[in-house]
Amino acid sequence: MNAFPFENKVFDPAEAMPRKELAALQLQRLREAVARAACVPFYKKALAKAKVTAQSIRKLEDVRRLPITTKADLRDGYPLDFLAIPRAQVARFHCSSGTTGKPIFVAYNRHDLNTWADLCARFLTAGGLRSEHTVHIAFGYGLFTGGFGLHYGCERVGAAVLPAASGNTPRQVMLLKDLGADVLVCTPSYALNIAEVAQGQGVKPKDLSLKFAHFGGEPWTEDMRRQIEAGLGLMAFNNYGLSEVMGPGVSGECVARNGMHISEDHFLVECLDPDTLEPVEDGQRGELVLTTLTKQAMPILRYRTRDIAHLDPSPCPCGRTGVRMSRIVGRTDDMLIIRGVNVFPSQIEEALLRVEGAAPHYFIEVDRPGKMDEVTVKVEVRAQDFSDRMSQMEALREKISREIHSITTIRVNVELVEPQTLDRSAGKAVRVIDHRKK
Ligand code: ADP
Ligand code: ZN
Repeated sequence: MNAFPFENKVFDPAEAMPRKELAALQLQRLREAVARAACVPFYKKALAKAKVTAQSIRKLEDVRRLPITTKADLRDGYPLDFLAIPRAQVARFHCSSGTTGKPIFVAYNRHDLNTWADLCARFLTAGGLRSEHTVHIAFGYGLFTGGFGLHYGCERVGAAVLPAASGNTPRQVMLLKDLGADVLVCTPSYALNIAEVAQGQGVKPKDLSLKFAHFGGEPWTEDMRRQIEAGLGLMAFNNYGLSEVMGPGVSGECVARNGMHISEDHFLVECLDPDTLEPVEDGQRGELVLTTLTKQAMPILRYRTRDIAHLDPSPCPCGRTGVRMSRIVGRTDDMLIIRGVNVFPSQIEEALLRVEGAAPHYFIEVDRPGKMDEVTVKVEVRAQDFSDRMSQMEALREKISREIHSITTIRVNVELVEPQTLDRSAGKAVRVIDHRKK
């Protein structure tokens, strides 16, 4: 334990509940969740078809008898068919950010908002946040669940919050410098953007007071973590969630930073083969499928997140007993199939960040001009590595191309672009355009 860089503290003792106790609680809550879901016509019908009632749930594995819910089901229920409580009892609405299409309304009652703040407080505490800290939140505030979710989570810990919201990056740097926030909250790509602007202004990590950061909302890699940590002088933690299920707070890293502990007393997790919907072995990649155990306004049964990760049930040195999920490798819907090979944008990022001279700013274009898929990866060259010497740039291009090939097994065209020419993100970065979909 002494090896930890700061005190390992739990927000709620439930995080370290013995597995047996946890399983009993989950079973009881699963029955309650099914009973609540039965108030929603979609589930009423699906449960009747599957011949499942709350009382017929005898063991946790019975979750497999429950109907699956997809994003398309939620879209079909637009705007509020999935509401399980009277409209008058709703305390807040949000929308899923609609990265991949029309948004979906999600609803919370008072009880749900309270749980949500607690669950965000769990991962924030696990990642170093304490009541004496000031948190700079550079997430979009509004329909997106990130801003408000983290905001109330920080307040629940007792910390001070600066609701900076996203955008106007030079101003973010000024606020960070002048107020001396201890903790930064935003998407990892926006953090990179902030680090870059800070550097451009000659602001060094020592000019800031940042100690920790909590990043989520989009996939990122270990190399990206190292770059942001070096750029801003902090320790970065990953957290995961999605609006349909609640928002941020489904899982988050502890001080060991080796996977994100899922709050299993509130979410029942399955990791399934996306094609067969059969469970995969622990440690094998699959699609995360989540059932809310305590949500009241909009309970969701077996939601197909489309997020690909693996689960690690082995004990964690921090003492939390919730299973750990790996980083999200990608979403099934942003997985590119290139000449028959499955490729996630995060694999391309991993390759780029291994090459000295490549900046972590890239954009992937996919097209099929003839019969074959073609991929072009535009990569920014770091200012200090940019050169007028053709041979030098050619060598860099070759290196990147080889690295991408070694990770993805596909050949891509690499196009080097000048520093600061690709769009920067203030929220979730858009990294791919697939012309084949037109
Ligand atoms: P949308 O699905 O429209 O983007 P959300 O804002 O609810 O709406 O985003 C949730 C999604 O964001 C997750 O399903 C996941 O794909 C991604 N995400 C959230 N946190 C992380 C994370 N820490 N790592 C990777 N991806 C994440
Ligand atoms: Zn842990």
